[in-house]
Amino acid sequence: MTAAARNSWIVRTGMLGFHLAILGAIWTGVSRVALIVGGMLYVIRAFGVTAGYHRLLAHGAYKTHRAVQFGLTLLGSLSTQGAPLWWVSHHRNHHRYTETPRDIHSPTRNGFWYSHIGWMMDKACFEGTASNVKDLLRYPEIKALQRYYPVVLLLQAIAIYALGAWLGSAYPELGTSGPQMLVWGLFISTVALWHATFMVNSVCHLWGNQQYNTGDHSTNNWIVATLTLGEGWHNNHHRFSASARHGLRWWQLDCTYLTLRLMQKLRLVRALKLPSDTQMATGLVNNPA
Ligand SMILES: [Zn+2]
Ligand SMILES: [Zn+2]
Repeated sequence: MTAAARNSWIVRTGMLGFHLAILGAIWTGVSRVALIVGGMLYVIRAFGVTAGYHRLLAHGAYKTHRAVQFGLTLLGSLSTQGAPLWWVSHHRNHHRYTETPRDIHSPTRNGFWYSHIGWMMDKACFEGTASNVKDLLRYPEIKALQRYYPVVLLLQAIAIYALGAWLGSAYPELGTSGPQMLVWGLFISTVALWHATFMVNSVCHLWGNQQYNTGDHSTNNWIVATLTLGEGWHNNHHRFSASARHGLRWWQLDCTYLTLRLMQKLRLVRALKLPSDTQMATGLVNNPA
């Protein structure tokens, strides 16, 4: 079995397993604390994907310290959406080859389900070398996250289970347990975040509206933007891929950008890239000047 075939088998089994494990809630039940932990892990890891994997590593939309970069990349890794260099490489290719045969997750070419989830189960996405992420290879800590990605995921599962087991024995009135915390904190939280993120690839190239003429089918979709902390302003993003802000209008809620602004005030990040007013007024669908 080739490495690509083995990886695709692992992803198929893992994704099916995570979806089936949701049914474990029938036996474990639910508690307020398990819901809170699951919700927090959804939001924190979503931020890791959008601020870390996407806006920082893939697009260099702002600058930060190595430690913050590592922390955000670690959070992105914990989202279980692939190791960082694999994720960034495919995403950069998506921008470079949008909706051409080399775009590996185009719903207009391959259909909704393939662009949503099928492409990750195809061994094609593990073939070839990631030659477009050489700029990130100078960070040994990111290479380590790439290499030890399965270990990171295993440690996350153990930590979530241990948290539930400890809370269950130390504070029995909370009504939680190791298995219950694993179901809500890991399986349900991760699967929910998967589908929210995957909708950027599927829904945001099919349904929504176009603010800018980008020459592709990318759309702005407020539902996806809400679920993904701002990533659903995907047409804006295809127009200004290096921008740290995706929700460019005051009414386009972009929680990632708002958090980055807060982090800028705390001097954790700097040099947020933004399009100028002139750039934002150019290429509009209603005013294609
Ligand atoms: Zn896109
Ligand atoms: Zn992007």
